[in-house]
Amino acid sequence: MRVPTRPARDPAEITIERVSVLYALESEATPLVERLGLQEQPAVDPQLRPRHFAGTVGTLHVDLLTLGRDPRSGTERVGTDAATMGAYMGVRKLSPDLLLNAGTCGGFEAEGAAVGTIYVSRGDLLFHDRRIPIAAFRQQAEGRWPGTPAPRLAQAIGAREGVVSSGNSLDCLPGELEFMRRERVCAKDMEATAIAQVCVQCGVPFVAVKAVTDLVDHPEPVQDAFLRNLRMVSALLAERMEAGVRWLGAHPRRAGDL
Ligand code: SAH
Repeated sequence: MRVPTRPARDPAEITIERVSVLYALESEATPLVERLGLQEQPAVDPQLRPRHFAGTVGTLHVDLLTLGRDPRSGTERVGTDAATMGAYMGVRKLSPDLLLNAGTCGGFEAEGAAVGTIYVSRGDLLFHDRRIPIAAFRQQAEGRWPGTPAPRLAQAIGAREGVVSSGNSLDCLPGELEFMRRERVCAKDMEATAIAQVCVQCGVPFVAVKAVTDLVDHPEPVQDAFLRNLRMVSALLAERMEAGVRWLGAHPRRAGDL
């Protein structure tokens, strides 16, 4: 059977008039909702209930989604499976011209990061915890989904550009650390690459914006630094994200000119 092909559109030619911003945690998202004066909307899915806020910034329509909560424990959904569902719902229901994944991450002292350093994704996004030692599956395991280059957006945000890698654990095994060192990873999170994977296949430009709450290559356990710094770093991220969203809303820009 022939698989029908969608008419190819070059994502670089898309004019950005609608942006969706996807966050995992409400504590990461709330400061930006407040800064931009976004209003809560009915959930895009009545069962999974991701939270949805929307508003207008200059020429830009802004939708903001969080991933909702685990129905048993009540904790916020994190990780690549929730991120994949959230991204797919966002792309299909909100038709964004650009999807941004904003949130916190682990940084690397070896790459010059400190708590509060902000990164915009550069190059391909990786998975550091997927191992399939069969040659044909290696690319699928390691992700390597291209993000949209965004050097000007990075400048507007006041962010560095760096390699982002996702996995489903907050801590990390020695082999995963070795992989991230080899790939010069700057931002270790739990969602971005899963979202990039959806966006590339749906033809939606994608950029991750990640703020460092904790340092992966540091003796202090990452969870201690994460919990201590989450509120302060989320406030800082919101301030920078507001600058980025206002830059996008100054006039419609081509995705190829980010
Ligand atoms: N107990 C926490 C759980 C958050 S899990 C809470 O609900 O408050 C960590 C979240 O922050 C994920 O969404 C992930 O993307 C990001 N993150 C921050 N530091 C990280 C790190 N060192 N490794 C992986 N993800 C990290």
